[in-house]
Formats: sequence, C-alpha cells, structure tokens
Amino acid sequence: MTIQQEVESILAALGVPVAAITKGELTVRTPITGEVIAQVPTITAEAAQKAIVQAHAAYLEWRNVPAPKRGELIRILGEELRANIEPLGRLVTIETGKLLSEGQGEVQEMIDICTFAAGLSRQLAGLTVPSERSKHRMMETWHPLGVVGVISAFNFPVAVWSWNAALALVCGDSVVWKPSEKTPLTALATQAIFERAAKKFGGTPSGLATLLIGDAKVGEQLVDSPLIPLVSATGSTAMGRAVAPKLAARFAKAILELGGNNAAIVAPTADLDLTLRAIAFSAMGTAGQRCTTLRRLIVHESVYDKLVPQLKKVYGSVVIGDPGAQGTLVGPLIDERSFNAMQKSLEEARSAGATITGGERISTQIDNKQNPAAFYVRPALVEISSQAEVVKRETFAPILYVLKYTDFAGALALHNDVPQGLSSSIFTMNLREAELFLSATGSDCGIANVNIGTSGAEIGGAFGGEKETGGGRESGSDAWKQYMRRATNTINYGTDLPLAQGVSFDI
Ligand code: NAD
Repeated sequence: MTIQQEVESILAALGVPVAAITKGELTVRTPITGEVIAQVPTITAEAAQKAIVQAHAAYLEWRNVPAPKRGELIRILGEELRANIEPLGRLVTIETGKLLSEGQGEVQEMIDICTFAAGLSRQLAGLTVPSERSKHRMMETWHPLGVVGVISAFNFPVAVWSWNAALALVCGDSVVWKPSEKTPLTALATQAIFERAAKKFGGTPSGLATLLIGDAKVGEQLVDSPLIPLVSATGSTAMGRAVAPKLAARFAKAILELGGNNAAIVAPTADLDLTLRAIAFSAMGTAGQRCTTLRRLIVHESVYDKLVPQLKKVYGSVVIGDPGAQGTLVGPLIDERSFNAMQKSLEEARSAGATITGGERISTQIDNKQNPAAFYVRPALVEISSQAEVVKRETFAPILYVLKYTDFAGALALHNDVPQGLSSSIFTMNLREAELFLSATGSDCGIANVNIGTSGAEIGGAFGGEKETGGGRESGSDAWKQYMRRATNTINYGTDLPLAQGVSFDI
C-alpha cells in the first residue's frame, strides 16, 4: 500500500469522505517521502465569515447548557479519541514526520486534556469575598465568553486544538479552528471525530466547533472578526507580531504561544548519564521541531570535556529515517524551507567561529525509493564561544548550540539573554543552584525544570512562555479562566445602603 492509499484508508475509517481530500487546491505532502498525498479544498472568505456567524449563534445556545453537561460532551470526545488513537496517531506521523510513539503521544495528550476538562466542568468556581459593608456579600462568577478562534502550527497539528477546544467548550464557548496549511488532514480527521462525539452526546448547536481550512488570510479573518472575543494563536513570533496589535486594537483577548529558544544549564554536580539522555530527547526529538526543543546548552567548564564528547557520539550514531520504522529516533524536517533555514543558521554560526558536528542532509530510502523531496538531516551540535545573533534566534530544526560557563551567575545571565522565554532546565544535584534557578532571580521562562529536559510537558500545568514567546498560558492549572469572563457581584441583604470607603451621599 502506498502512503497515499494508507492516508485515504485511515481518513475513510475516521469518517472523512474521499472528496474532502482529493478535489482541492491545497496540496498536502508527507515529509516522510516528500510525495503529494492529498488535495484539500480551502474555504472562501465568504464561507469563513458565515462559519463565524454560525459559531456565534452556536455560542448563544451552548452557554445555556449547564457546565457539567458540557463536560459530558468532552468526556465522550475523549472516548472517541481513545478508540482512534492508533489511526489518528499514524496520520500525525504521516503528516508531520514525527515518530509513531510521538504521533500517538500527541493523541494521548488530547485524551488527557479531555479528562482534565470533563472534571473541570464541575469546578468552574469563583471566590466569595468578604465585604467591608454590613449585610453585604461579594462573589465572583464566571460566564462563557463567546467564539474562541484557534490558529495552530504544523508541529502539534491536533493537540493544540484540543488544549483550547476542550477548555473552551466546557467553559460554554464555541470554537473556530484554522489549522496550519501544512497539516489539514489531521485537522479533518479530528473534526470528524468531534462530530461523532457530538452525535453521541445527542446533538450540539450547529457550528459549535468548526474547521476552516486555508492559509494565513483565513487566520487574519479570525483575528479581525468582532464576533471573536478571544484568539488563541500558536506559531512563530513573526505571526504573533502580526496578530497581537490587531487584537489589541479591538480590545480582544489573546493567548499567544510563539517561538522558544530553550536552554539547559549543566552544573558541576549534574548526574551526567541522566543529563545525556535528557539532552538527547530534548534536542533531537521530533527532529528539533518542538517549540520546547532544547536549543542552547550551557555547560560548566569542569564537566564540558566529559559531557560534550559523549554527546557527539550520540549525535553521530542516532538513527535517522522513516519515523514509522522501529528504532528510528529522528524523522524528517517538515519541508525544504525548513532545511534551508537550518543550513543558513549553520553557515552563520560557522562565520561566528563555531565548531559544527553534523547538520548535513542524509539520504534515506523509504518504500525502496530515494526521495529528493524529503529532508532528513543529522542533528547539529554547534560549539560556540559566545551567544552570537544566530544563537539568540529560534531556528526550527535540530541545532544545539553548546556554550561553556565558569560561574553560576554567568550561566544564568547567558540563559536569560535571549528574546524568547518558553522552557528551561537545570541539571544539578546542588539544592542551592536548583532553587536559585526556579526563584524570581533565576530562569525567566514560563517553564523551568530541574533534572529533566525542556520538552515533553504534561497537560496538568499551564503551558506557555514569556517575552517574545507571547505570554499566553494554555492547558492545565487555571488557564481555563481566559476562556470565560469574570463578573464581580455585590449583594446587599440589609435595609441600609452603606457606601464603600465610608463615602456619604445623603439625599
Ligand atoms: P507559522 O507562524 O508559520 O504558522 C502558524 C499558524 O499561523 C498557521 O496556521 C498560519 O497559517 C497562521 N498564520 C501565519 N501568519 C498569520 C497571520 N498574519 N494572521 C493569522 N494567522 C497567521 O508557524 P509554524 O511554522 O506552523 O510553526 C512553528 C512555529 O510555531 C515555531 O516558531 C514554534 O516555536 C511555534 N510553536 C509554538 C508553540 C508554543 O506553544 N509556544 C507550540 C507549537 C509551535
């Protein structure tokens, strides 16, 4: 069976009609071989506008459904996803080039957030606050917000939708989703799974969760629509820079999940075996195409000569190839553009005096074919003496810059001296260093870890980062509050009308 036939059979089994993937203007390729696997129709501006209006009507109905009942829809969605973890996971692998376990892991993440959100649907509680006035009570209530626009990136093609949609739907909102133009097939499959869940639930308002396939222009429509009070946008910092001022200008809320430039400090007391394994997964996993990928390694001079040669060995021997094959650890880059960006950054690093191991294109044979349109690379280890401009930029490919440090304060300064602030780690057995790293004067990132790598977050915590990463938080903890509007209520159950702060106004 060819990959295209496999895609068609998976999609048919998941409930996506063949016409939805054969008769369109958007060409979809698999990075595994570079071959075309589908032609998907895109939405017109008028149809997108209609879908937004429909989503708003759906919200007006859905907000009246009790929250625990809304949670039931998400519980069923979780069950549907669980039943389809294998085919949907395989489709994620085919469309993004992730390993099979990562493709399935992404679907597992969708299931996990559904479990979380179903429980949350009974806990959308506000505070009761003591009033300074006699016989008064204050409380906060949380209400549904409206239509939530979700714009997602290619590298987590379905999990990001679920992080947003599961919370938004239990919060009483409707959702309009614009996936990456590089990954429409997994989006179509997810939409079909949602629709099945909605049917099993007993029906939902039409347009409660809608999929709009198209390019950045469709994303712009979500950003510009006055019917959408919250846009959650995941992608590059350049995208966030275009989107944020437009949302601010119309006072819409934004959850921005943008680029990272994540670092780890390896201190003198680090457990080097564990550190090596953690670095390998964080830096090379998903072929360096996670927002949380480890991109900078800041190593103490006393362990540098022990750790770096070991790392070089791992970089030289890691199995690169078909992400669907057993034993592969590094799959392909998403496309040629990504390969060219990687080569450009390596060239820049070389000009800045770096010593580079790896980084070259690897030729692979999949389906007994040499694939000129598939881009496999050996992950690059780049030893560099200072944080040159190229190191401060996110290159979305497997490049790990390695820097040496002498004192802890210097390591922290290097760590924080980049425009992005997503994820960070320290490897140390020294309690003072670990606590300092996590303290107010330590890592300036939204995620700070001790003795684990920068990537592979769980859904229970709030996910996101500071500075040019955008400041948004998604998924667990109290991220749900962004999908609701808060009202403060003061109730007077007495017969007097005392004013706050002792103000008198006798008429
Ligand atoms: P991208 O910025 O090219 O595209 C992301 C999405 O934004 C796509 O759906 C695209 O169509 C849309 N878009 C682009 N310009 C737009 C505009 N002006 N208005 C509205 N929509 C627009 O990103 P990508 O290449 O798909 O993904 C890789 C990037 O995403 C990396 O920088 C990575 O770090 C980041 N990312 C961040 C997170 C996070 O949680 N912080 C998660 C995943 C990926």
